[in-house]
Amino acid sequence: MSVLEIRDLHVTVDTEEGTTPILNGVTLTLRTGETHAIMGPNGSGKSTLAYTIAGHPKYTVTGGSITLDGEDVLAMTVDERARAGLFLAMQYPVEIPGVTVTNFLRTAKTAIDGEAPSIRTWTKDVKQSMKGLRMDPKFASRNVNEGFSGGEKKRHEILQLELLKPRFAVLDETDSGLDVDALKIVSEGVNRAKEETGLGVLLITHYTRILKYITPDHVHVLVAGRVAEQGGPELAARLEDEGYDRFLEPVVDAD
Ligand code: ADP
Ligand code: MG
Ligand code: MG
Repeated sequence: MSVLEIRDLHVTVDTEEGTTPILNGVTLTLRTGETHAIMGPNGSGKSTLAYTIAGHPKYTVTGGSITLDGEDVLAMTVDERARAGLFLAMQYPVEIPGVTVTNFLRTAKTAIDGEAPSIRTWTKDVKQSMKGLRMDPKFASRNVNEGFSGGEKKRHEILQLELLKPRFAVLDETDSGLDVDALKIVSEGVNRAKEETGLGVLLITHYTRILKYITPDHVHVLVAGRVAEQGGPELAARLEDEGYDRFLEPVVDAD
């Protein structure tokens, strides 16, 4: 078993107006085999948490820690984080002109494992995962994210997840822009990775919809950069009914 531990994490972002605190003490422990949902209103810092785990240079950690089995994740480069078994699906994936999906996946796999995968098993694995995600085989020869539809981007993320076999995956708004059929297919891919490799999942979402397909063990509600409430799947059901209103500042009538 592996453990990803986030302790009292404080993060700021530099903007033109100066330095803004965004995360104000986030604590959570994610073990392999577990799925934790991070929910919360827009602007509460969910993506900031994801980017900080991934090591995005725009975000500065001003306090607290992130460790993976006791190793300091914050001291690792982005590549080292990937090799340590962390996977981040970006909310806004970038285009990589001139690099095909096949080459991208093989290069990433080689970098993470420290050796190239054997051609025969690799080709078979890629085909099988693509089939599972109902992806057209022609997709493999397209350039990464170039002209991908929203659904294709998400499938490509989950394809990476299945092939790279990380220990922990941070999925930021993987459900956004997917129709119900695509959402099911993408969720099945995540569930396969959970079953096959005991993946630990940090599932970041504003909506409860995806949680019908990927059942969380724990739900954390992030509000203004803090965990305002924690619970089990029943908390997600409650948010479905009530929304985030009760977490937000009451509006005072000015008479
Ligand atoms: P969420 O994903 O929960 O919607 P974010 O983490 O994207 O929230 O944003 C939290 C707050 O931090 C917002 O007020 C947002 O405007 C601000 N923020 C996040 N990233 C940046 C950035 N790179 N530059 C400026 N402000 C940012
Ligand atoms: Mg976000
Ligand atoms: Mg939390």
